[in-house]
Amino acid sequence: MLTQLIEQDKIDQFNNWLSSSRKIVIVGHVGPDGDAIGASLGMAHFLRSIGKKVFVIVPNAFPDFLKWMPGSKDILIYDRYKAFSDTLISEAQIICCLDFNGLKRIEEMGASVAAAQAHKIMIDHHPSPEVFCDISISVPEASSTSELVFRFIDSMHQFERITLEVAQCLYTGMMTDTGGFTYNSNKRELYTIISMLLTKGIDKDDIYRKVYNTYSESRLRLMGYLLENMKVCSSCHAALITLSKEEQSRFNYVKGDSEGFVNIPLSIKDVIFTCFLREDTEHPVIKVSLRSVGKFSCTEVAERFFEGGGHLNASGGEVHGTMEEAIAKWEEALVAFKPMLTAEDNK
Ligand code: 5GP
Ligand code: MN
Repeated sequence: MLTQLIEQDKIDQFNNWLSSSRKIVIVGHVGPDGDAIGASLGMAHFLRSIGKKVFVIVPNAFPDFLKWMPGSKDILIYDRYKAFSDTLISEAQIICCLDFNGLKRIEEMGASVAAAQAHKIMIDHHPSPEVFCDISISVPEASSTSELVFRFIDSMHQFERITLEVAQCLYTGMMTDTGGFTYNSNKRELYTIISMLLTKGIDKDDIYRKVYNTYSESRLRLMGYLLENMKVCSSCHAALITLSKEEQSRFNYVKGDSEGFVNIPLSIKDVIFTCFLREDTEHPVIKVSLRSVGKFSCTEVAERFFEGGGHLNASGGEVHGTMEEAIAKWEEALVAFKPMLTAEDNK
């Protein structure tokens, strides 16, 4: 049996909404990742199985390595279909906000969601949630939002309705948000849930291959090039990788190609903090990804230097400026956080 992490009165309230609602919109965050897409599609398949009319809308495109997922072709991309998405959001009776905990994380869509009359529920695992929904389910100790969606459905006594499709989507979110169960993945019940998903017939090895082993040759060459140029600061136990627009076009970069790059320098002995800076192709902004191991907090760096946030060991943010300015901020952050980075009890 799983520990009940989601309060029963929230489940009851959601069930009440369901009894008088049919039109449901599920929303995931900007730059949707495996967990945002997995949790959203898993929830969508489940709600459709109980007769609901469900649309999944995300602010912008998601990477190709998630496009095998059942139902992914029906996901609406807000920045391509704004008017239609706005209509669906305004007509929805329930809006499920999955894998984000503040309206800023859905950018332009935030205004439509805020204005909508629907009942709103948030299910998320990021710390420091904002209150923008009628029901807020926030469990930062969970591996992923997909794990929480599993627990949510299970707490509704609907385990029987978890089909192979639901299981594939939720497993993908759990796997990607833990780097293939290599971080934030020590809770015993995570494996109880995986074994429950295996009873639905998922092929976890095949899911791993579909997500991690279907890249292009140019992506691997880009990885080699970026690692060649990686900057390591041994005395601060930190490393930096950068990717400019020019380099993206040189290596035929497509969305998702840099997935996982930020983690690679953590394989260097004694490197506990990494940063990946990527110049955005659409807006004059540098996207920042931060990763750490042990007690060192990426979130504090993201909040103080990069207008962002996230989890203890995985955070992100942005710099409104040039790559040079972003690199300068990183260097400033290293100076400011050096005492924490070199603390004896870090690991
Ligand atoms: P990634 O590096 O994979 O883009 O993001 C890592 C984590 O940081 C994610 O869990 C995400 O929620 C968080 N994150 C990424 N970008 C931002 C941002 O701009 N603002 C905030 N608040 N969190 C972010
Ligand atoms: Mn996510």
